[in-house]
Amino acid sequence: MNKLVLNSESLNNVLENKIISRDEIIQIYEDSKNNPNELFSTAQKLRKKFKENSVTFSKKAFFNIVNLCKDTCSYCTYKAEPGEEKTSLMSKQEIKQLLNIAKKYRCVEALFVTGEQPEQRYQEARDWLKTNGFKSTAEYLIHASELAIERGLFPHTNAGNLDKEDLKELQKSNVSMGIMLENISERLTKKGMPHYLATSKKPKARLEVLENTGKLRIPMTTGILVGIGETPMEIIDSILAIRKLHEKYGNIQEVIVQNFQPKQDTLMKNFPSANENYFKIVVALTRIIMPKMNIQIPPNLSPNSYHSFLSVGINDWGGVSPLTPDYVNPEFSWPEIKKIEQDSKNAGFELKCRFPVYPEFFSFIGKELRNKMKEIEDEEGLVKQEYWK
Ligand code: SF4
Repeated sequence: MNKLVLNSESLNNVLENKIISRDEIIQIYEDSKNNPNELFSTAQKLRKKFKENSVTFSKKAFFNIVNLCKDTCSYCTYKAEPGEEKTSLMSKQEIKQLLNIAKKYRCVEALFVTGEQPEQRYQEARDWLKTNGFKSTAEYLIHASELAIERGLFPHTNAGNLDKEDLKELQKSNVSMGIMLENISERLTKKGMPHYLATSKKPKARLEVLENTGKLRIPMTTGILVGIGETPMEIIDSILAIRKLHEKYGNIQEVIVQNFQPKQDTLMKNFPSANENYFKIVVALTRIIMPKMNIQIPPNLSPNSYHSFLSVGINDWGGVSPLTPDYVNPEFSWPEIKKIEQDSKNAGFELKCRFPVYPEFFSFIGKELRNKMKEIEDEEGLVKQEYWK
């Protein structure tokens, strides 16, 4: 039997709900490099089978709490040093003001983002927290999340490698949380590689955080970063690591497949953007590895072609803000929601607004939060049109 027949057999197995092995996935990747059509059409069949004809997004406001970060990744412009812009924490007053504006814009999600454990490295962060009566950034995030709930927004925190106690406390006010796995490869943490100066990106450390979220039953968004110098095997192993976590704990609500875009003033400024064909193959592989998973690409990072990913397996656009920038990728504005809606419609999909937690994970959420969600929820567990349009 030749390899292409084997490839078709494996893809047919996926359509029949059989789990495929690492060897089969590698073979599918090898056979699809030059002609990915069969892989793409299988991914799309699965997407339609499990996610039907809608594509979701979360209407959010991005609360950029602080850019100080104890680590340094070679591709990042988010991290700032003391003396640069945005190194004191966003004040309570600023948070309240933005929450009020977000409510007027009919946002549903309050996304809280910080650099990695700023107070571990910077006196400036320690001083700010002490002056404002907080023991840690995590404690301040809990306070910020409570402010969001009071105003009818639903928090989703992405603050890096939080410890189990902090996760447990944040869980009370966050309907979901996020941390990118990025890649499982130790090689990418070696000298000269993007995660060399980022201990929080060590695969073992990231996996431990994700394991803890599983034990705590926190609905988690995680994902992979495509095109930072990884090998195809390393990306396949990273997707498989996420599948394994989800098989064990069942708490991964969504996988972001994010394409690398080089940024000025970083060590990787001359590194090429992720190749689009390779990126699409990775998206489609993610779908066949986890057929029922919610899979998103960020539309702002593929501004001219994001809609074409609707035919390789995605079913979500992630968080999109009508009022705040993507502070992690400030040079890439989000398309307007109306444009995303039209582009999705042209591709045959209806745009719907979801909560930062997907309906499949509502049973993970505390009663009080669920009751608040019900005030604006439709019969599918999504946000009623009149509350976001
Ligand atoms: S990517 Fe995250 S961990 Fe790495 S330097 Fe930027 S803020 Fe810090």
